[in-house]
Amino acid sequence: MLAYKWDNSKMYNTRLKKYLPGGVHYNFRLPWEETPIHFVRGKDSRLWDMDGNEYLDFYAKFGAMIVGHNNQRYNEELKKWIGRAMAVNHTDLDTEVCELIIKHIPSAEMVRFGLSGTEMVQNALRLARAYTGKNRFIRFEGNYHGNADNIMGGRAIDRKRPVPKDYPGDYKGTLGRAKDILETQSFILPWNDLETLEEVVTTYADEICAIITEPISINGGGIMPQAGYLEKMRALCDEHNIVLIFDEIITGFRVGLGGGQALLNIKPDLTTLGKAMGGGGLPVSALVGKAEIMKLYESKKVIHAGTFNGYPLGLAAVKATLEILGEDNGSCYGRMAENAAQIYEIFKSAAKAVDLPLVIQGPLTCASYHCQEYEAKSPREISYDTQFKDIVINSSLAKYGILVSSISRMYLNITLNADDIEFFRERVSPALAEARQIIDDTFK
Ligand code: PMP
Repeated sequence: MLAYKWDNSKMYNTRLKKYLPGGVHYNFRLPWEETPIHFVRGKDSRLWDMDGNEYLDFYAKFGAMIVGHNNQRYNEELKKWIGRAMAVNHTDLDTEVCELIIKHIPSAEMVRFGLSGTEMVQNALRLARAYTGKNRFIRFEGNYHGNADNIMGGRAIDRKRPVPKDYPGDYKGTLGRAKDILETQSFILPWNDLETLEEVVTTYADEICAIITEPISINGGGIMPQAGYLEKMRALCDEHNIVLIFDEIITGFRVGLGGGQALLNIKPDLTTLGKAMGGGGLPVSALVGKAEIMKLYESKKVIHAGTFNGYPLGLAAVKATLEILGEDNGSCYGRMAENAAQIYEIFKSAAKAVDLPLVIQGPLTCASYHCQEYEAKSPREISYDTQFKDIVINSSLAKYGILVSSISRMYLNITLNADDIEFFRERVSPALAEARQIIDDTFK
């Protein structure tokens, strides 16, 4: 089959570029160029663009879209709430939605809502500072916790006191990030490295208010925690009056109804949720956790603000999503995983046929592929060359109608079916043949 052309999308985007910088809503990953595809319609796992091209959507709006595009049941639930009280502080939906979240997330005793993951992470850190009276938090290489300056980028120069420092080329050489808060607010450590964690926590316990981590490093490349790592992290937090924050913006309601914490059987003190919790259609996030910490809001000594917090349509989206995902005891996760396993087998054999190395790792419903021979055990084990090759594969797949998220993540949804698997099978081979050519030309 022929690669897609995007004549209409490109023409439309040229017009848009006059008004919208770069013609994109998001330029995190620039400078490499993404072709802006303008979509007009979606149904289940499929999308259609302005040129009439059809896609299988594993991009899924960075993992948010878990109930599939235009899920009828989801849409009906939203419609029920449109036309009632759309923008008020409290409605008769609030309690039910809190109860639904608390039912599923093991560590959730109380809940607060927001719109984005970024803001929930910042609120979790503020609570942790208030609760412990300390200021500095620990974060990890390869993890991502939103686009606030105090938590993006930097690397530790001094391994004994690993404050993150800006360096030339950091975050693809982007400018404008505030420098002082990067260095004064956190320590940055390699992820999945128990020894370093233990050393830094015991040395600087008096300074550390929180450890924030993705329970499974999805942003780091789909990496599971090594045995005992999170358990030890939990124990260190208990021992040193440190708040353990799981950033489950991706894993929450995606790796299972109880998120990464249920899967791995570790209870953090605070958890951030977002993306899949709203099904994919509406932005809504939450901070959940121990009542003892969350009750700091009751004392009004800790601020949590936001114009649209708890907005009715967002909560309706959560209600619809959790009811859909929770049906039949969450059997959709098993089905998603079975489909995923088939798709990844097809993907790997197609790569083998064109002699490209390919590993697929991470939870089945949000795995990452890497164009290398071995599975990465830490984000450090995915080189720039591998990332480059992964991006080449990503763009080649798009040309043949398969969309995957940045850099190489595949977010599945509950509507995936046998037709979708066949669509993938037909498209993946020509896409990988093209990717192989580009990689060969680049690395010859
Ligand atoms: N935390 C994690 C783990 C994420 O993956 C993201 C988004 N990719 C965020 C936080 C930030 O969420 P948002 O983009 O909604 O601000």
